Amino acid sequence: MPTYHYRCKSCDYDFTKQQSFTDDPITVCPECGKEQVRKVYSAVPIEFKGSGFYHTDKSK
Ligand SMILES: [Zn+2]
Repeated sequence: MPTYHYRCKSCDYDFTKQQSFTDDPITVCPECGKEQVRKVYSAVPIEFKGSGFYHTDKSK
């Protein structure tokens, strides 16, 4: 299942979500609840190496 990277334009919340190709893209921010979420197409691939660990500077 591909992992998509999203960012909220309203509060700058940054998150990833595993979705199938048939799932609708996320539009509502889980942090502030506003419909300001946009898909981020990053040049740097996000890697999951089994542990599921993912670091963001903003989350902590
Ligand atoms: Zn938000």
